[in-house]
Amino acid sequence: MGLIELPREKIGLFPTPINDLKRLSKALDGPRILMKRDDQTGLAFGGNKVRKLEYLIADAFRNGCDTLVTGGAAQSNHCRQTAAAAAALGLSCHLVLGGEPPDIPDGNLLIDILVGATIHWTGPLRKGESIPEIADELSSSGDKPYIIPYGGSNSIGSAGFVNAVSELKQQIMDRGEKVDYVVFASSSGGTQAGLTVGKIAYDLSAQLIGIGVDKDTFGHASFEDQLTGIANDTAERLGLDANFSLSDFIVKHEYMEKGYGVVGSLEREAISLTAENEGILLDPVYTGRAMGGLMDMIRNKEFTKNETVLFWHTGGTPAIFSYAQSLMAAGT
Ligand SMILES: *Cc1c(COP(=O)(O)O)cnc(C)c1O
Repeated sequence: MGLIELPREKIGLFPTPINDLKRLSKALDGPRILMKRDDQTGLAFGGNKVRKLEYLIADAFRNGCDTLVTGGAAQSNHCRQTAAAAAALGLSCHLVLGGEPPDIPDGNLLIDILVGATIHWTGPLRKGESIPEIADELSSSGDKPYIIPYGGSNSIGSAGFVNAVSELKQQIMDRGEKVDYVVFASSSGGTQAGLTVGKIAYDLSAQLIGIGVDKDTFGHASFEDQLTGIANDTAERLGLDANFSLSDFIVKHEYMEKGYGVVGSLEREAISLTAENEGILLDPVYTGRAMGGLMDMIRNKEFTKNETVLFWHTGGTPAIFSYAQSLMAAGT
């Protein structure tokens, strides 16, 4: 199907590889598990935001902007990838981060600083609430700011994950595989919305299952409402004749009751089992929780042994260093 081609700035290493997690699958006595390695997108420890940034930054260039502004938590993977992309393209980057500056920056924050981002600390506001104000200040001092939304999740960023489905489809065909399910962490929605649009655009038969990691991302609107909105906007931008509704999105909300970024036994077990069986690192906030959810679904016999589940590794690994204490803790 002919989609409208949006401008794209090539900054990542694509296609990302696919691993066959034979030992993990055996340890879980479960379905075949493939892993799509978006933790290897190539820019400062990689991650899924690089796919969105390729389109967002192309849009920034088209608008004559020279400064990227975005926000998130202190350990935001999205902010770290935005800062690294800015460095690679010679743009300035301002990050609006929740919390207070730590004595010694670590994990993602350390990388933000190493790649030269300017950090604005905003105390309890961890979702970039003060971005408009900071962008105004930058404009009045002669910069041309481009605001990237929380998690890069709008109809432009999401196009990166529509394109990712075309990439996956080609890989599945080349390998002669059949993928029954695609499982991934879902938070600001651009990944799931883009995959859902891509599933229609490129006729992917696999069922998409998002594992929710953040219960209060969008205030009163449900997360599924948010996903529907982004998916419809993305389809429209790409000239795809499709109309999505709430029932097009499966999001498992039952694995996040501890709240965003709180590591418990679910995440710890998923991280250590994957590391011990495959030598592959998951992160404490997103992929650890999503893999924990997948393991729980496997134990509940939600898949048969001859099915294939593709786990989309969305990145986030630099955060393990700043979560060392909770990763080492015992109990729940
Ligand atoms: C941002 C992020 C996600 C979630 O992607 P969304 O598009 O925000 O839903 C998942 N995993 C990691 C590691 C992330 O950084």
